[in-house]
Amino acid sequence: MVWPERNAARRPAWYRFKLGHFEITIFLDGVSARDGPHPAFGSNQTPETVYALLRENFLPDRRFENLYLPVLVNTGEQVVLFDTGNGPRGRKTGSGRLAALMSDSGYARGQVDIVVITHGHPDHIGGMVEDGAPAFPNARYVFGAKEFDYWTKGENIPEARVKTRELFMQIAVPFAAQATFIEPGDDVVSGVRALEAFGHSPGHMAYRLESAGRQLLLWVDTCNHYVVSLQRPDWHVAVDNDPGQAAATRNRIFAMVHAGKMPVIGHHMPFPGIGFLDKRGENYYWIPASYQFNL
Ligand SMILES: [Zn+2]
Repeated sequence: MVWPERNAARRPAWYRFKLGHFEITIFLDGVSARDGPHPAFGSNQTPETVYALLRENFLPDRRFENLYLPVLVNTGEQVVLFDTGNGPRGRKTGSGRLAALMSDSGYARGQVDIVVITHGHPDHIGGMVEDGAPAFPNARYVFGAKEFDYWTKGENIPEARVKTRELFMQIAVPFAAQATFIEPGDDVVSGVRALEAFGHSPGHMAYRLESAGRQLLLWVDTCNHYVVSLQRPDWHVAVDNDPGQAAATRNRIFAMVHAGKMPVIGHHMPFPGIGFLDKRGENYYWIPASYQFNL
């Protein structure tokens, strides 16, 4: 299934492969083209500094695209969905395709056993509800306890996130009765472990997958631009709740991934969002996967 886009762009919208016994599918919930990445990325740098880094990497310096990549993991025993995309509210702007793509890829929404919400931002929770009803009618839900408490308590919500909290209260909180609340280090199911990745949001978590001796990290929103936040992990990102903590988290997780030569899936990396890290000096470089997972 391909989707029409601006400038007549056409691209595939889901990618599937096996990791050990796990079957993993990455969906392109949507794309939004925006002005930037500065000042959202490199918010504590001059525009010229950020523009130069982008040009060095063969990218336009004033426009970029943001992608949304929810991930479905079928462990053989459970079907686990990580985040739900933008949902109905995204359709006006060309996202919110997850439900249609799942069906195109051979899964009914009713087959999802567990929905893991990595953090409470709209592009991750927006697809929890379709037509006023639970989008995944047979699923139970997993939230990070710290993230769920942050949004429900509603203390220290920055002005820019007031609407995010309203959305969270409206569409995520009603699932609390069918939810479990986990801490870093807890397992969702065997082979799926939560990792502390606080900073982008107060309780944001990454997830490590492991099957038959093979590992992969879902770093979710730890890093949201494959050049700026990898090559300059310390540069601040204005959409991070705590830019200093988010930078420390990037450095810690990048070091772990690089040392372990682990493949990574990032929610906002270039489609299909899977790659590896190279390191030169203090800078990391995104090496997109090519055929490794097809063999
Ligand atoms: Zn996101």
